Amino acid sequence: MNYHVLTLFPQMIIDGLSTSIIGRAIENKLISLEAIDIRAFSTNKHKKVDDYPYGGGAGMVMQAEPVYLAYQHVTDKIGKKPRVVFLTPQGKVFNQEIAQDLAREEDLVFLCGHYEGIDERVLEEIVTDHISIGDYVLTGGELPAMVMIDAIARLVPGVLNNEVSAEFESFQDNLLEYPQYSRPVEWRGKKVPDVLLSGHHGNVDKWRREQSILRTKQRRPDLLEKAKLSKKEIDYLKDL
Ligand code: SAM
Repeated sequence: MNYHVLTLFPQMIIDGLSTSIIGRAIENKLISLEAIDIRAFSTNKHKKVDDYPYGGGAGMVMQAEPVYLAYQHVTDKIGKKPRVVFLTPQGKVFNQEIAQDLAREEDLVFLCGHYEGIDERVLEEIVTDHISIGDYVLTGGELPAMVMIDAIARLVPGVLNNEVSAEFESFQDNLLEYPQYSRPVEWRGKKVPDVLLSGHHGNVDKWRREQSILRTKQRRPDLLEKAKLSKKEIDYLKDL
């Protein structure tokens, strides 16, 4: 899985993704990450990449040509036209399902906007997916690109040490994950639930599943509509 990020701030991407699990995955060549500096493709002698918006209004707009040349640099290098994700507050809101879909791609390009955004014409030319990370406006697409890469990369086989840990977590089956506990058994008067100490796997699984349903009902009831529940679990939900 190869990530190519088109950005005005390449160092931000490299710094942000070079530690912990993702950093180790890059080091171990399970994934690759390159940050392409759009400014390097400016044809302006002062390396300018933005200009005033036609029609007036506040702010500056990133020009089409440097963005297009940066994109072409990637397509020439890899010899194909991968999906291009434009990070934008106007896009579909990112979620685990989109992460799973994108994790199947061999190459992905992330295009980060800045200032007021990017000239629409180049977006029409190269972008395949418009994605937002939430209904708020940030100063640039770099943090959203990092959020997406982190979420997608951890689904790539081998990136997490324990494959199982990506399998049973929040949003799987549209349920939130059950509560987790670690040593000590008692912390400041609060005990770990007995069932987790019982060694009875069947009971542990049942308890966890019920906790997932309970937690989802309390915190994200909207998810429950799409959750796949057994008849018994539907009855349990009704009794809550
Ligand atoms: N004028 C734009 C608009 O109203 O849609 C917002 C531009 S924003 C200040 C600058 C850049 O930050 C955008 O081009 C985009 O790349 C990024 N950005 C801001 N908020 C975002 C969000 N919620 N999700 C993804 N990208 C975002």
